[in-house]
Order: sequence, then C-alpha cells, then structure tokens
Amino acid sequence: MSDNPMKPYLGRLAEVKDLASEIKLFRVELMNGGCEAFQGYQPGQFAFLSAFGLGEAPFGIANACGQGNTLDFAVNRLGSVTTGLHEMGEGDILGVRGPMGNSFPMEAFKGRDLVVLGGGIGGAPLRPVIQTVLANRADYGQLTILWAARHPSLLVFTDEYEAWRSAPDTRLHLTVDQADPAWDHNTGLITDLLRKVNPSPKNAVTITCGPPIMIYYVSRMLGEMGFSPVNNYVTLEARMHCGLGKCGRCNLGEKLICVDGPVFNMAEVGNMLETFL
Ligand SMILES: Cc1cc2nc3c(=O)[nH]c(=O)nc-3n(C[C@H](O)[C@H](O)[C@H](O)COP(=O)(O)OP(=O)(O)OC[C@H]3O[C@@H](n4cnc5c(N)ncnc54)[C@H](O)[C@@H]3O)c2cc1C
Repeated sequence: MSDNPMKPYLGRLAEVKDLASEIKLFRVELMNGGCEAFQGYQPGQFAFLSAFGLGEAPFGIANACGQGNTLDFAVNRLGSVTTGLHEMGEGDILGVRGPMGNSFPMEAFKGRDLVVLGGGIGGAPLRPVIQTVLANRADYGQLTILWAARHPSLLVFTDEYEAWRSAPDTRLHLTVDQADPAWDHNTGLITDLLRKVNPSPKNAVTITCGPPIMIYYVSRMLGEMGFSPVNNYVTLEARMHCGLGKCGRCNLGEKLICVDGPVFNMAEVGNMLETFL
C-alpha cells in the first residue's frame, strides 16, 4: 500500500479478454511503484480499480502472486465503473489501489483437503486459491472444486478446467441452474451438486464465494454435513467506499468487510449471514 492509501497506482492493461457473458478478464501491469506495493499479496485479497472520470470499485484479485508480474481481475459489467472498465482496451491506463483486506490462511490449510465452491463471478477470488494449491500440490490434500453458474455462458475460467481436472488429486464438478443443449454436466443449484458430491468433513476445509443467497444455503448445508464452522471459509462482498475501515459502509455487525474480511469463517459470521441476504 502506498503512503497515501487513497491514491491509486497506475496500471496498464496488458490484456483484456472475454471470460463469460458480460464478464471480462483484465490483466494489469502495475506502474509507478505498484509492483512493490503488491509484492507478496495473498489469495483472497482485493483491490480498487478506477476508471478515471467515472469512479472506482473493489474487485477480488483473481490470480496468485508470482503467476506472472501482472494482476488479473474478472469484472462483471453492472453499473458505471464496471461499464467504464469494459469499454477499455489493451494499453489503456487505469488506477489500482491495494492490496486490501485479509486473505485465506493458505499456510494453515496445508495438509488438509480443500472443498472450493464458486458461484458465477464469485469464482474470481477462488482462482488464486486453486492456483496456489496446484503450484504446491504436495502441500495440500484432495482438492474438490464445485463450480456453478446460472447458465453455461456465465461460467468463468472455462479454458482452465482441463488443467484443473488433470491435476493430481483434484476433482472438478460443474453445475448450471439452466442448461443448454450442449451441456453434459449437472443441472441444478450448487447445493444440489454439493449433496451429490457429498465431501467428507474429515480433515477438510471449505471455501465458498458467490451471491449472498448461495453462501447462506451452502454454509447451512455444510454445517448439516458435519463441517464445523471454523473450517467453513467464505469471502463476502458489500458496498464499500474507502476499503480502509474508515467510512464504515461495509459493516456486518461489528465487523467491517474491508479490513476484518473479506475472508471470514462461519464461526465469525455465521449468525449474521441472514442479515446479509
Ligand atoms: C471485496 C469485494 C470484491 C469484489 N470482487 C468482485 C470481482 O472480482 N468481480 C466483480 O465483477 N465484482 C466484484 N465485486 C463487486 C463490485 O465491486 C461491484 O460490482 C462494483 O462496485 C459495481 O460498480 P459499478 O459502478 O459498475 O456499479 P454501480 O453503479 O455502483 O451499481 C450497479 C448495480 O449493482 C449493485 N451493486 C454494486 N456493487 C454491489 C455489491 N458489492 N454487491 C451487490 N450489489 C452491488 C448496485 O446496487 C446497483 O444495482 C466485489 C466487491 C467487493 C466488496
């Protein structure tokens, strides 16, 4: 983080590509000291991207540190900032503020099985977790990925599924709410897939990201399956302005998602998730 945490570094768009319908991947090369600031960032952290003249918005960093000298962001087009970003192309300059927030305790996860559950754009902050496990395969147990979207056209990182599937001790299970004629995986909600896959809670941790309603029902089901709340990790989103714990916009009870999170375990936030729906 820079001396003035409200001042963005400049970043150059090294690559922009379609990831899914209305979702683009932005690969950002940091300039003016940003590289040093982001050195050693961790899976789960996020950054604010600014489209100059329009504003800034927070996005999960979608690649693990050390996977190239660039930062990846998967951006779903929703409103003014995300539309401004979607209108940018390679070589354009944007602002980057961060890295922000806490991270997944990847060290503590070593030696344990991981169940990763991603819904839609919620897959973005989970990709660095998957990359970290695959790059250090012997350090972790079985990796089970449950990946969901409303429709096949909304699945993110599809060109990486083959590599995930063929990695040792790694299983990928896909589901969509609404299939198309070419779809030959599960059709139904991610909770339906979770019930079918039925992962064992023994020596396992879970990591979930997706829309609040998905996080709520997945977490409830994991509890019923015997996963203890301290082993169920989620990464949460909220409207936030400063990202520094100053403005108080992103509170969840006593906690601020920007500085106490965005990564929490269910022992910390389980009883507050209903207010989040
Ligand atoms: C920690 C964190 C990580 C995030 N990671 C990603 C990511 O990796 N990829 C991604 O595409 N988005 C991510 N988001 C959400 C992203 O910040 C918002 O989509 C963005 O702020 C929208 O800005 P906008 O100006 O385009 O839309 P606005 O004009 O601000 O809003 C457009 C519409 O989207 C709704 N909206 C905006 N932000 C949110 C939000 N956080 N939650 C629910 N509804 C919202 C508004 O109510 C409005 O209806 C993340 C948010 C947080 C807090």
